[in-house]
Amino acid sequence: MKLSIIIPCYNEELVVNESYKQLAAVAQQTAMDYELIFINDGSKDNTYSLLKQLSDEDKHVKIINFARNFGHQCAVTAGINNCTGDLAVIIDADLQDPPEVILQMLEIQQRENANVVYGVRKSREGESRFKLITAKYFYRILNKMSDVKFPVDTGDFRLIDRKIIDQFNQLKEKNKYIRGLISWMGYKQVPCYYERKERFAGETKYPLKKMIKFATTGLLSFSKKPLKLAIWLGTIAVVCALIYALIILILKLVNPASFVVGWTSIILITIFFGGVQLLSVGILGEYIGNLFDEAKDRPEYIIDNKVNF
Ligand code: UDP
Ligand code: MG
Repeated sequence: MKLSIIIPCYNEELVVNESYKQLAAVAQQTAMDYELIFINDGSKDNTYSLLKQLSDEDKHVKIINFARNFGHQCAVTAGINNCTGDLAVIIDADLQDPPEVILQMLEIQQRENANVVYGVRKSREGESRFKLITAKYFYRILNKMSDVKFPVDTGDFRLIDRKIIDQFNQLKEKNKYIRGLISWMGYKQVPCYYERKERFAGETKYPLKKMIKFATTGLLSFSKKPLKLAIWLGTIAVVCALIYALIILILKLVNPASFVVGWTSIILITIFFGGVQLLSVGILGEYIGNLFDEAKDRPEYIIDNKVNF
């Protein structure tokens, strides 16, 4: 049996040495053969040279070096595409997901004969209130809107087996929301509860802009409900307009002289319907944008070089 550990890294010079140390220690405790696949996602700092040094000293360390920053989900995808283990673990470089939990996941996997053991965050230390609240509601709203049911409070930290890896490698879609796709596959998936820690060092590589992009990907690839929102808004608008027309008609009949004024109501209506239309067009645009990306069929990531493969 072989275990692959997949670690996406973007500007993680402050943590890679420590995460290597802890992950290698955990991998050695498993008594399995193992590989540590670090994906350098176009870091602008010293991450690559530190990884290169580690890979010279320890042949278990493999590097996939991207040509530029393609994003966390693409980095994880490259790791899964290139791993050779019977089992694989996806884990962040920053040690927020404690490496010891991997041992627990392996134990659960064996006991339950599971295909996926996904980490569920019992608590999250050292993260901003804003992140905690948005994450909490995002997972719950997505769940409501999607036809597939996802476990809540679950990130990409998980153990997957060869069946899942092979299925994953068959997927053709580009803009991946990996945790959703793995839930969507089915098979036997069981939770593993753990406490999410504070970042070991450095700061988050997921600023608000990346968070929004990530949330949009999740929503658009697993729900068609936003498209239906346009239909609902349109219907409500038409009903409002009809009621208002009726009121005007009645007022006009009752008191014909009262109708010179009306600037305010015209402006309000114009703004409201303009807004509804723009919103609907915007939602359509998001989906079409996604179709456009898929149609271009560009690769998800470009690898500059690989080390120890
Ligand atoms: N990451 C990456 N590419 C990116 C952004 C992040 O490979 O464009 C990696 C990052 O190095 C880390 C993991 O993805 O190992 C999770 O990122 P981070 O810890 O910054 O996110 P947070 O835990 O704050 O949500
Ligand atoms: Mg983190």
